[in-house]
Amino acid sequence: MNPDRLLLIADLIPPGPEALERFDVGAQVEAITRLGFNAQHIEVTDVTVGEAGIAFFKSEHARLNRRDLLKEYRKHHGRRGSWDIVYFNVHWLSGELMPLHPEWLQRDGGGEIIPIPYGSGGYSCVNSPFRDWAKEMIREIGAYGVKGIFLDGPVFSPKGCYCDACRAGFEGQHGFQYTPEQMKDPLVFHKVLTFKQESIARFVRDVRASLKSVNPDAVLYMNGLPLGPGTCGRDNRLAEPWQDALLAEGGFLAGDLRSLPVWKPAATAKWLETQSEGKPTIVAVAGRHGPWNRYLLPAAETWIACAFSVANGAHIWYGIYDANRDDPRMDTVREINRLLSAHSDCLAGTAPVARVALVWSLKNANFYQTTAEQLDFVEGKTDLEHRMKSDARRAFNGWFEVLSRSHRLFDVIDDRFLERGGLSRYELIILPNVACMGEEECRSIRDYVAGGGHVIATYDTALWDAWGRPRETHPLKDVFGIAETKGVEHLRCDHVALEPAPLTEGIDQPLIPAPHLHVKVIPGPGTWAHMRFREKQPSSYCDLPPETDHPFLLRNRFGKGTALLFTGNLDAMYDTYRFPEHGRLMQNAVDGLSRRDIRLDEGLTSLFVNVREKGNRRILHLVNCTHDGGRPIDRVKVLREVEIAVHTGRSPQSIRTLRGERDLSFSFAKGWASFKVPEVREYEAVVIDFPDREDSHH
Ligand SMILES: [Zn+2]
Repeated sequence: MNPDRLLLIADLIPPGPEALERFDVGAQVEAITRLGFNAQHIEVTDVTVGEAGIAFFKSEHARLNRRDLLKEYRKHHGRRGSWDIVYFNVHWLSGELMPLHPEWLQRDGGGEIIPIPYGSGGYSCVNSPFRDWAKEMIREIGAYGVKGIFLDGPVFSPKGCYCDACRAGFEGQHGFQYTPEQMKDPLVFHKVLTFKQESIARFVRDVRASLKSVNPDAVLYMNGLPLGPGTCGRDNRLAEPWQDALLAEGGFLAGDLRSLPVWKPAATAKWLETQSEGKPTIVAVAGRHGPWNRYLLPAAETWIACAFSVANGAHIWYGIYDANRDDPRMDTVREINRLLSAHSDCLAGTAPVARVALVWSLKNANFYQTTAEQLDFVEGKTDLEHRMKSDARRAFNGWFEVLSRSHRLFDVIDDRFLERGGLSRYELIILPNVACMGEEECRSIRDYVAGGGHVIATYDTALWDAWGRPRETHPLKDVFGIAETKGVEHLRCDHVALEPAPLTEGIDQPLIPAPHLHVKVIPGPGTWAHMRFREKQPSSYCDLPPETDHPFLLRNRFGKGTALLFTGNLDAMYDTYRFPEHGRLMQNAVDGLSRRDIRLDEGLTSLFVNVREKGNRRILHLVNCTHDGGRPIDRVKVLREVEIAVHTGRSPQSIRTLRGERDLSFSFAKGWASFKVPEVREYEAVVIDFPDREDSHH
């Protein structure tokens, strides 16, 4: 994959098999080209009701052979120099195929076929003989010379898999068979999940080998794990070595969008970047508002989803029904693609410059507790089982909100990144209720702070081990300056009194809501303990009870660095209630421990920024989500004359906008380049070029 070319991939879901017989491939490829795409995911097997074994290419392994569409696609894409990447479904088998290959299907603990939430069909199992069939089909497709293959899935149902192949495979590895009852045991659950993750990685490795045996240059990638739990067995880290790019559905918007963060595509791109080991990342953006799959989102939502993706270094996949391709909303898609492809060299192959990192730990999502968004083949989760545990997703989202709405530059890193150590490129690492942490992660955080790094953590961070079992003592107590922890407490309607400090600047209410959950901490000697919880209020209208010895916040110098612990689940509280004081406390904590790189009007909280670099150039991305309220966002309010200062450290040679096509005048002082962007519609990119470094050698 060429790092200087932004991939703009179209996926137009085709009609059913009968209409496909008369389908005009040339007209579709022509339409895609006119819309500005340079690649396509093409479907040459019928998947309208799941993989049905109907091939629209020459196949000895298909149940039915139909017209050779693949040959036609090859011809039309070859003519235009665009990429044909074949979509291949590896998670959903149609009802027609089920009776022919019952052994291909995932089964529950009772041996029954597990139904898939789409309404009909079942889950194919990558450990079953389905695997051999998929390898043959992929070999046949690869032999056409296609540019690549996209695997939709693979995925395990949380209820599976107890098929013969999985049971035999697991028993061969571990010496026992697992039962649904045993899944409550964290160690068995861990082993089974690891088995699923490794099964998926092996499958991707094997189909890749099959593809490369006939088509060594073809690329392969799967529908990867977005932010969220991975109990479906997907783990981007394990499958990454066998993929040429990482893709996830960061721009799939469904249901009540008011409950969905507008920055979801940005978070997905950042999450993929930490896992891709330098390979390209792709954010999949659906044109529709799910579950109404033929109803398109308004233009502003499409702009914003695409903008957040490229602003974070990702390529874009955009999918709609073929029947939607002449919709007037496609004018927006054409406009987006025209802008992005004209400036492909600035937007592709860039690197992040952030010095703050926010952690999303897959381990924590899998083994602690988290709510989850409803996705296509993952069931949503809104209820939490354990009252005394917080919500990993809300904790992460709370920080993402605060950081992005206060114009901070930050990366998302994962638990593997922490395990590996070498964290010193960051000034500050935020651990949002990262409760489950392994020994390696704890060690690397300790080394990082000792060496001068700063951390902010919340609630019961590190109080659970890598398998989700509670720890007796806090493994980072010396780092956070804790003498002792005395359990956790749930507070329904309690308050914390404000004490003046740099951290509480900008807050004027004397009492603020206490987080629902907090760890009762006794600070160690020399630890700065700030504000205190009160004894629990017996009712919501009672007099205020006396203060306890348990601080709201601890700040400790450890080695050369600083560790700050909010003992309550402030982040999840902020995500739930949006009390401005909670957000201010979080923002002040970040500002106290890391330098800013961007200055702009604090009031513009719906103008999101990112800066990336490439060679002698920095690219400032501005994503404008300002609107009158509610979602989907019909149209954004255009911002004018936006004053921005970027910390560049050296004086730029020129500053220009890509969408507005303006050269901007600027000033430079004390490391900051200041300029005014005349107009920001949904998206603007500002390119800051520096004089050649070579000049200084002469
Ligand atoms: Zn199985």
